[in-house]
Amino acid sequence: MVRYVYDFSEGGRDMADLLGGKGANLAEMVRMGLPVPPGFTITTEACRVFLATGEPPAELAGEVATHLSALEQATGRRLGQVDDPLLVSVRSGGRFSMPGMMETVLDIGLNDLSVLGLGKSPERERFAWDSYRRLVQMFGSTVMGVDSALFEDVLAGVKRQSGVEDDSRLDSCELIRIVETFKDLIRERTGEEFPQDPAEQLRRAVLAVFTSWNGERARLYRRREHIADDLGTAVTVQTMVFGNHGADSGSGVAFTRDPATGRTGVYGDYLSDAQGEDVVAGIRDTVPLTDLEGPAPAAYEQLRGHMRRLESHYRDLCDIEFTVERGRLWMLQTRVGKRTAQAAFNIAGQLADEGVITMAEALRRVSGEGLARLMSPRFGAAAEGDAIARGIPASPGAAVGAAVFDAGEAVRRSAAGEQVVLVRQETTPDDLPGMVAAQAVLTSRGGKTSHAAVVARGMGKVCVCGASELTVDPAGRCFTALGGVTVREGTVISVDGFTGEVRLGSVPLADSAVVGYFEGGGRAPGDGAQQDVRDVHRLMEQADAVRRMEVRANADTPEDAARARRFGAQGIGLCRTEHMFLGERRPLVEAMILAHGDAERQEALGALLPMQREDFIGILEAMDGLPVTIRLLDPPLHEFLPDRTALAVRIAREEALGGAPDARDAELLAAVERMHEENPMLGLRGVRLGLVVPGLVAMQVRAVAEAVVVRRKAGGDPRAEIMVPLVGTVEELRLVREEVRRVLGAVSAEAGAAVACPVGTMIELPRAALTAGRIAREAEFFSFGTNDLTQTTWGFSRDDVEAAFFSVYLDKGVFPVSPFETIDREGVGRLVRIAVAEGRAARPDLKIGVCGEHGGDPESVHFFHEAGLDYVSCSPFRVPIARLEAGRAALDDHREGN
Ligand code: ADP
Ligand code: MG
Ligand code: MG
Repeated sequence: MVRYVYDFSEGGRDMADLLGGKGANLAEMVRMGLPVPPGFTITTEACRVFLATGEPPAELAGEVATHLSALEQATGRRLGQVDDPLLVSVRSGGRFSMPGMMETVLDIGLNDLSVLGLGKSPERERFAWDSYRRLVQMFGSTVMGVDSALFEDVLAGVKRQSGVEDDSRLDSCELIRIVETFKDLIRERTGEEFPQDPAEQLRRAVLAVFTSWNGERARLYRRREHIADDLGTAVTVQTMVFGNHGADSGSGVAFTRDPATGRTGVYGDYLSDAQGEDVVAGIRDTVPLTDLEGPAPAAYEQLRGHMRRLESHYRDLCDIEFTVERGRLWMLQTRVGKRTAQAAFNIAGQLADEGVITMAEALRRVSGEGLARLMSPRFGAAAEGDAIARGIPASPGAAVGAAVFDAGEAVRRSAAGEQVVLVRQETTPDDLPGMVAAQAVLTSRGGKTSHAAVVARGMGKVCVCGASELTVDPAGRCFTALGGVTVREGTVISVDGFTGEVRLGSVPLADSAVVGYFEGGGRAPGDGAQQDVRDVHRLMEQADAVRRMEVRANADTPEDAARARRFGAQGIGLCRTEHMFLGERRPLVEAMILAHGDAERQEALGALLPMQREDFIGILEAMDGLPVTIRLLDPPLHEFLPDRTALAVRIAREEALGGAPDARDAELLAAVERMHEENPMLGLRGVRLGLVVPGLVAMQVRAVAEAVVVRRKAGGDPRAEIMVPLVGTVEELRLVREEVRRVLGAVSAEAGAAVACPVGTMIELPRAALTAGRIAREAEFFSFGTNDLTQTTWGFSRDDVEAAFFSVYLDKGVFPVSPFETIDREGVGRLVRIAVAEGRAARPDLKIGVCGEHGGDPESVHFFHEAGLDYVSCSPFRVPIARLEAGRAALDDHREGN
């Protein structure tokens, strides 16, 4: 029988799919014997029924009633009972934590009568009305949909009238007045009364959580994070504990390690006499967690103990919410905490050192995306100038952009191509689209656990928070900073997420220490090296030790080849030859194209030959001892001719001036017109060129072979491979290969030593993938050109589709990510698998790699590993990322070390 409700005592952390992360971890803490207020969780399955049918499952109401009475029994209090009522919170929580879901409603069960029961003694009166005030406000905005700003306005108005700065100073009379005004507000705005029946409050709050799954912000977040839309959320109903109960009460958040750097210690914020979100909302200044020791020493000691236990239980950094009610500690949430890339590498290494996890597990916990972040530039030494503000460096990185003061402006300007920094006093979930659009978030209030900090870290955005010298004036669209500097909207500022400093203007960027480490060849760093470099080195070593796939680079010049090698490339997977036809060589290429007859063409090709040979010598030298896959010319020849319009204009001008147009121009224009293609991507290019333009293949192959001979004579170990692009049928490859053999034979004879280069083909047309078995008979290796293969499989001309309508496709969820970014496993991936299987069946020792941009994309690297490829090839800068991900992919083969 399907159950829709689980008591905390019935769940555990392994049930996150069903109970959501929050519900599962609460159950886990109960299982560990930690002090958790009792409660139960409604499953994601109930939500899925609701999403599918518009109604909760029929059994749900009954199950909730049963669990509620068990809760009432256990606590000895009843929901809605007038004297000392049971109050509960209704909390949302899916498999993945998601900003944008309905916010938690606290203090459910209060109404005009039970508030009197809760406040029965004079010292509880203020507390009771404060709680009721919170319920009406939260319920009114999140469940009944009244704009939360209206409640804030009322609150601010009363505070102003009574001359108090923060909520905790309001007395009972003022709170009673606020509650009444709130209720009026709800009536005015919705035509409904605030519901007095606690059971109705509970029911409606639960349904509102379900409904919020499809809220705009939640959907935006899921799209960004590639979270499936049909998972649904769980709802946790939990007995209230009260941090708003005077000076020995309060609420706080804690991290078992510093989520920004990974260092161990006590990190967190605490706010006394506060409930729920107060601590992260920035309404009052929080104190560091250690300050809890004074007013509540026993709770503080206990908390530290629980933190240690949780960290060793979860074997990872934990993020914790707790409340102290009159000196007594209650645990309200834990989860494995989000962290910066720097902290991720650091913590993984530390936990491995401590013997808590294996190195394999450590590798699993870092990512190529994180490594890319560590490799991103920071502000260079030139950042010496005066900072206009200094805040808490909550999420690292270097960002430059125009200051903007609300989410709407951030979105508008960034859509117009401008880089922006969102500056707020503090952020709320409403700022999310602005945070997505901005390069960085800068706030004047809140600590490392504030909304801005947590969300920015999750998105990998730069964040500096709590820059208290700033006075942010969103209405005046400016902020004032140290020394009275006023910064207006649109002014460019630089935000340093490593140091927390903010500067005027655009500070120049410099390479990160991690890039410096790779540039130095990835040698073991000394003790004096920066911590992140040492962390990266260890994990790279681990990745290299376990990965099965090789990593090569796409490089066309000796400089790129050398850099790729320093970054750990094991060869070149794609050396394009087209740039060798550009620049000052262009006249020679034009001569080749315009040649009348073989003799003229041979002459032009003959002039190109020594230049190409020199190019190859340089690259083979830089990659000595490692394979270099050289692709024969791919783009259509007209790409090497001048622009048609420019030529036509030049000729027309000459004619208009009465002169005779340049003969060569006329000839060029005729050639351009002759060779014009409606759809060059599918025109005369790749292997087709080689078969149609006599002598072209021979010249290129001769240049390669002669370069090999030169390098050998110099004592080198050149390993050139020849790759034929855009093959659709084995017949094309067979013809080219004959030519290659002939040339290699000739060069061998001239050199007096055998020059052998493996010949292979790119697989970048569906027909090639589908006939890979035949093609493999003529190919010694395959290299998937996944850019063209994606274009030709989808029928997308990349240049035409990406800018034109991909954003619409992504918005509508046609695909969660561009297939040019991450390999489309179902379609293009299927072709890859077919070609691998059939190619290897025909030729068991067939070497197979990939040289499209996907070779440097983490997700795609995992796919290529699964598909059995021998190597991936990517741009030099992404080589370390591919190495790391190839290592992580190999871990999935044998899940040891868990
Ligand atoms: P979020 O998912 O946004 O973190 P939570 O469900 O954790 O939302 O709740 C918001 C705030 O309310 C948190 O600070 C949490 O600790 C607090 N809270 C939730 N339930 C209770 C409860 N039963 N008693 C006291 N505080 C609670
Ligand atoms: Mg929480
Ligand atoms: Mg291609």
